[in-house]
Amino acid sequence: MKVSPTVDVVTEINNDRILVVENSEIYSKLIKNSLANIFAGEIDTANSFDRVKELVELYGDRYFLSLLNMSVEGAPSGEAVEYVCSRKIPSLVFTSNTDAEFIKKIRSYGVIDYIFKENVANLKVMTGLVKRLSRNRYSTALIVDDNQINRLQINALLSKYLFNTIIAENGQEALEILNDNPNVDLLITDYMMPVMDGFELIKKVREHQDSKELAIIGISANSEGTLASNFMRFGADDFVTKPFGQEEFCTRVSICMDKRDLLQDLSKSATTDFLTGLSNRRYFLDKAVSTHASFKRQQLDLSCVMLDIDHFKNVNDTYGHDAGDQVLVEVSRVLKERIRDTDLLARFGGEEFCLLAVNAERGEAHQFFEEIRKLVSSISFEINGKTFSVTISMGVCDQSLDTLDQMILAADRALYQAKNAGRNRIEFAR
Ligand code: GH3
Ligand code: MG
Ligand code: MG
Repeated sequence: MKVSPTVDVVTEINNDRILVVENSEIYSKLIKNSLANIFAGEIDTANSFDRVKELVELYGDRYFLSLLNMSVEGAPSGEAVEYVCSRKIPSLVFTSNTDAEFIKKIRSYGVIDYIFKENVANLKVMTGLVKRLSRNRYSTALIVDDNQINRLQINALLSKYLFNTIIAENGQEALEILNDNPNVDLLITDYMMPVMDGFELIKKVREHQDSKELAIIGISANSEGTLASNFMRFGADDFVTKPFGQEEFCTRVSICMDKRDLLQDLSKSATTDFLTGLSNRRYFLDKAVSTHASFKRQQLDLSCVMLDIDHFKNVNDTYGHDAGDQVLVEVSRVLKERIRDTDLLARFGGEEFCLLAVNAERGEAHQFFEEIRKLVSSISFEINGKTFSVTISMGVCDQSLDTLDQMILAADRALYQAKNAGRNRIEFAR
């Protein structure tokens, strides 16, 4: 049994295929292997126009993307590209031809972009772009400009790059949209607009959302010296001067979105436990200290619980370390599923967890902890045909002590008593 911690691969049920059209078998394999690292769906390859048509007939709208060589058997000069584009499948074209006229021809089919096909390093550029496009499908961009032509141009570019888009005519309208749609990922804003300008908009937005939550790009025709730097000072991640070409605009958008994803990934790995996906100890303590303080101020009920799997070493010794990992993952999942959104839960270390349960009446809380204990012992694990289960011991501090540390210490002492008293039980700190 193998446990795979959350993999950084985009999975989706619809539009879950990529079509690779390439006549060189070696290159086709290289592309497929590179894509498999970043894309969890199916990757189909075709080396002739006939095969392309067959596959498109078969899977048509399930292709979120196709990557094509300009010439394959039966389609010597772009016919396959034209065909795939006519079927509204978003496409990228491989080329080793840098001639401007040739690039213009590729673009005329309506492809998203082209990728130079020279060496293995370009495969990295390709996978970066595919990953970006794949993520863009689940990203929303808000375009704010008082000029309709500009709005339409930006909308067309972002839609081509597979973003979902929303449009606003001034800063005030944008703020209202952001209020209703907290999941907007990218904000593209003009500077000079009636009602509320771009600076005011950014200042207000950045009070609540940083670059990790929302990427912002400022746009203006005004090339005055300090405009770009002021946009950035107020919190934009980048700035583009009008008029701009597709290449520059889309590259800047992609870089901003990549930065945002990176910040999110970093923040996630700094706050969560890699194996179980639960909060780690540091993040838990950060949150729990302020939760404890605010509950104490309001004289509300708060319980701190230490949980520890019983004889966990035996699981590792009997069934192997991977089985031990599987137990940790499964117990974490069950705990996470059972607690309320407002409760805080963390993997403290090894097979030890800490729960800060909020707002529960004392009697109710006791029942809740008992339920958790039973729930864990009811999980059935099967390893190599053998079935087993595990139990947990819990120590509870349900008195509001002065500091969180004191509550954790009291819960830990109670856990020690639960272990000494025979395990698979709950003890309360007195
Ligand atoms: P007790 O009932 O007293 O808690 O006994 P125990 O065996 O559960 O506790 P002990 O502290 O003796 O052993 C804990 C074991 O947990 C030892 C360690 O190797 C194992 N462990 C810690 N972290 C991990 C992990 O991430 N994966 C696996 N598989 N095992 C781990
Ligand atoms: Mg243990
Ligand atoms: Mg332990």
